[in-house]
Amino acid sequence: MTTSGYQEQREQVVQAAKLLTDAGVLSHSGHGNMSMRLPNKEHLLLTSVGRIDQLSAEQMVVVTLDGELVEGKIEPVAREIIGMHTNVYRLRADVNAVIHTHSPRATSFAMAHQPLPCVYEAFLRFGITEDVPVAQWGPRGSQEAVAYIVEQLQQHPTVPALLLANHGLLAFSRDPLATAQLIVAMEEAAQLILDAQTLGGARPFPANALERERRHMQQFGSAH
Ligand SMILES: [Zn+2]
Repeated sequence: MTTSGYQEQREQVVQAAKLLTDAGVLSHSGHGNMSMRLPNKEHLLLTSVGRIDQLSAEQMVVVTLDGELVEGKIEPVAREIIGMHTNVYRLRADVNAVIHTHSPRATSFAMAHQPLPCVYEAFLRFGITEDVPVAQWGPRGSQEAVAYIVEQLQQHPTVPALLLANHGLLAFSRDPLATAQLIVAMEEAAQLILDAQTLGGARPFPANALERERRHMQQFGSAH
């Protein structure tokens, strides 16, 4: 398999995978998939294997925004998730990286079909100012599953992550590292919210805090 092209971008994806692994936010299986928009804007790097806890720069292929394979070989388990990635890029011009994981605590909310509440300060730094919504379940890789993701992206045009019902999460941001950091923040939030239930439950931000934060981000740009 050739790895002659896009070495710098491959390294960025590997570094983001390492951050997710080191932070302990992958599920036991190490399952996940990652992609990155390439500078020509027409192609993506996409992980070609079913787990990302020992990802190497060679384990990526190049695909078009229509999901056509341009370079490399891809495992069937990775091929079927292409649409989950390509549709995010199609709908979000500002997104340059997409990561899917089964991060356990965030995925607990996906199992319960409950949005991940926006009650954690770290969310604000990543531009999340609303609850992370849940896309309904469909068979993995099916048009139905992709349609539910598209539906949520259209209903929540600025949210940088979704929960996938009975499955996992999908996060998307300006580059692979920022996207991995966002997943760490989601996993922390999920854990803290679950822990806070023993103390009567997490409380919301003060009134108008999220609106003030949105105005602040419009003025200064978000930190993500
Ligand atoms: Zn999955």
